[in-house]
Amino acid sequence: MNRLDEVAMVDPEVAGFMRAELNRERRKIELIASENFASMAVLQAAGSILTNKYAEGYPRHRWYGGCEYVDVVEETAIERAKALFGAEHANVQPHAGAQANMAVYFCALEPGESILAMEKAAGGHLTHGTEANMSGALYDAHFYGVNRETERLDYEEIAEIARKCKPRLIIAGASAYPRDIDFAAFRRIADEVSAILMVDMAHFAGLVAAGLHSDPVPHAEFVTTTTHKTLRGPRGGMVLCRSAFAEALDHAVFPGIQGGPLMHIIAAKAVAFREASLPSFKQYQQQVVRNARALATALQEKGLRLVSGGTETHLLLVDLTGQEVTGNEVATALDEVFITVNKNNIPFDDKPPSLTSGIRLGTPAVTTRGMKEAEMYEIADLISLVIKNLDSEEVMGRVRERVDELVSGFPLYPDL
Ligand code: PLP
Repeated sequence: MNRLDEVAMVDPEVAGFMRAELNRERRKIELIASENFASMAVLQAAGSILTNKYAEGYPRHRWYGGCEYVDVVEETAIERAKALFGAEHANVQPHAGAQANMAVYFCALEPGESILAMEKAAGGHLTHGTEANMSGALYDAHFYGVNRETERLDYEEIAEIARKCKPRLIIAGASAYPRDIDFAAFRRIADEVSAILMVDMAHFAGLVAAGLHSDPVPHAEFVTTTTHKTLRGPRGGMVLCRSAFAEALDHAVFPGIQGGPLMHIIAAKAVAFREASLPSFKQYQQQVVRNARALATALQEKGLRLVSGGTETHLLLVDLTGQEVTGNEVATALDEVFITVNKNNIPFDDKPPSLTSGIRLGTPAVTTRGMKEAEMYEIADLISLVIKNLDSEEVMGRVRERVDELVSGFPLYPDL
């Protein structure tokens, strides 16, 4: 009997929703750049009895009794994270990426101090100082974007902005930037203006672990990440930092911004870090990057323009301005033919975030499913057909059939 059967006996209603979601994941082509399919080992750890345990505090220094086994689980996760990324200290307790970032702000800043981050419209993240987020409400946020011509980070321009706003903290890292990032350049800027450097590697952490993306750890005081994107672990967050900040950071996470840690998720993080240390993970990440490049080339061959002209990572941004459709229309139409993407603003977009002029595509999930370059060419063809035939029910029907055929060759979670 598997776990969905157990849920079905107690709560058929929720089990029905869970089955429907499993079928959706199996049936659709998943191109959301921030998503992935965790392994059965990660799922089992996340769905385990460790959810029962309260463990406020840190290993060997808890506020509750009975922590002898969760202590070693957390120590194992910490040691594996440090080894995987070559970090001096790791805190594996943040419930998600947002909490990892919040912990660093709480540790490194006083309310009202200034931060400098990539603006959301250019690819930055909500938690990097936007008005709606606590990071924008509590701190004096300033932003850099990308160069209008190259659509890439312009380090001279970032330095200029930093000289003017004199930030206490500079944030590098983004949610929708398809290019590698020069962390040494960010370090030089931070040193020039006496700022602390935080890198949010949530999106590309898996590539860093595999040595396929510039490594932020040697350059930044703090590195934050999610564990569920390219890293392919459970939904969660983590902060890496230098030893000098270890105690202050731990205090900022607990009791600063969180209560009891999610020990089942920390166990799943430990399992994911082990998986990420294996040669097969490097091969997986190499395929993620190859697939992103193949998808980019194939879309360009169909006449679609990509922001910055391509990708060096796991994601790409399609500029739809020449197609006279919005990102919203395309994302909705793709969903109807079982291809899941998200609408995304492109740099210098004149459309609001609810419409957008772009879509963001990523290859981590389809690569986990086993797809390779040939499938990326097929997917690019399907996406291009949808963009160019939004009103044709006949084309949409044919695309749906081809999606069915494609995914049937790549079974997902056969044991569930
Ligand atoms: N940082 C970046 C760069 C992200 O892309 C995301 C999520 O998309 C986050 C932080 C927040 O992560 P979470 O959704 O786990 O809070």
